[in-house]
Amino acid sequence: MDEIFGLIEQEKQRQLDTLELIPSENYVSPAVMKALGSELNNKYSEGYPRKRYYGGNQFVDQLEEMAIEKAKKIFGAEHVNVQPYSGSPANAAVFFALLDIGAKFMGMELSQGGHLTHGSPVSFSGKFFTAVSYGVDRETEMLDYDAIRKLAVKEKPKMIISGFTAYPRKIDFEEFHKIAQEVDAISFADISHIAGLVAGGVHPSPFPFMDVVSTTTHKTLRGPRGAMILCKEGFAKAIDKAVFPLLQGGPHDHAIAAKAIAFEEALQPEFKEYQKQIVRNAKALADALMNNGFRLVSGGTDNHLMLIDLTKNNTTGKEAETLLDRAGITVNKNTIPYDTRKPLDPSGIRLGTPIVTTRGMKEQEMRQIAELIKNVIIDKKDPEKVRENVNGLCADFSAFAW
Ligand SMILES: *Cc1c(COP(=O)(O)O)cnc(C)c1O
Repeated sequence: MDEIFGLIEQEKQRQLDTLELIPSENYVSPAVMKALGSELNNKYSEGYPRKRYYGGNQFVDQLEEMAIEKAKKIFGAEHVNVQPYSGSPANAAVFFALLDIGAKFMGMELSQGGHLTHGSPVSFSGKFFTAVSYGVDRETEMLDYDAIRKLAVKEKPKMIISGFTAYPRKIDFEEFHKIAQEVDAISFADISHIAGLVAGGVHPSPFPFMDVVSTTTHKTLRGPRGAMILCKEGFAKAIDKAVFPLLQGGPHDHAIAAKAIAFEEALQPEFKEYQKQIVRNAKALADALMNNGFRLVSGGTDNHLMLIDLTKNNTTGKEAETLLDRAGITVNKNTIPYDTRKPLDPSGIRLGTPIVTTRGMKEQEMRQIAELIKNVIIDKKDPEKVRENVNGLCADFSAFAW
């Protein structure tokens, strides 16, 4: 057991000592951690509040209802299911609830910023359904709504997915919904990456337009590992049945309680300020990187993330990820739109500001981080030397600025 706790301790120290720039990660509050490590882990509650297949759920029922009410309040949704174990199972529930096997749907191409569950042939979405992919414009590297509309009119999909994992710009959900309406398709937004930004009012909301919305709860929303599905009342029954009993068994009550806590935190005024700072920090980091000689996909960012195209820096995403890791800066290699390289060694890296903002860093620190990244990739300084500066910067900001 000591060995296991020893490794957990080392991971905790790693999170303290290094700059985590992976845009899908965050550091949760001690309150969220406490709920996750609670006795709720011990309970079984198959079913939904007040309709369970097990006894002893009087407190679990109240907790799940609280999580649902808070989520509705944050997003203004008609119906919420807080039971999905994570983002991919939540998306599977949406597909199996609303589409016949084999039905055609549209989603963003994986290599251009879509998620595996939006139609990749290695995912259930591409295996059991017929995916038609759209991409970004070759010149602007941004969404081209006219091109998406034309494709939708030609292909007549039953569902259109918006919401991405590596798209640095704002998404016009109203426009996506209009396109879906024009071709009689269900509009589905997966806001996993930007749920916190939407909750904080710094990204346009998919509500009240979208028919169905899914999101993870552990990214910018800064809650426990997990997900939820929000939808219009007309889809509620089908969604609930797809989550349980079609795809899942007993809900993870400890995670649901932790979601309720994260939602409560998201309703506080400080959360809005946090989300604003995430976006300000991303802009500052993007500007500083461009001033330091890097090319960013689409020329910048409107949200919490950005993609560096390393082509002109004579390096690859894989090399850059490894070098930066040695310097204590954690990023992930990522394809860029129309990448000519392979996904395991693509041309780009993806960076985001949710964690450094949670730690209390501001624009000034973003400029320092851009300088450190330049030191490693452009100036080719010894990563171990750069690491000393990284550790110094981290020491000034406790991992949890709560
Ligand atoms: C992260 C993400 C998911 C998947 O979430 P998991 O919890 O990793 O299964 C789904 N869709 C999008 C857009 C995401 O960014």
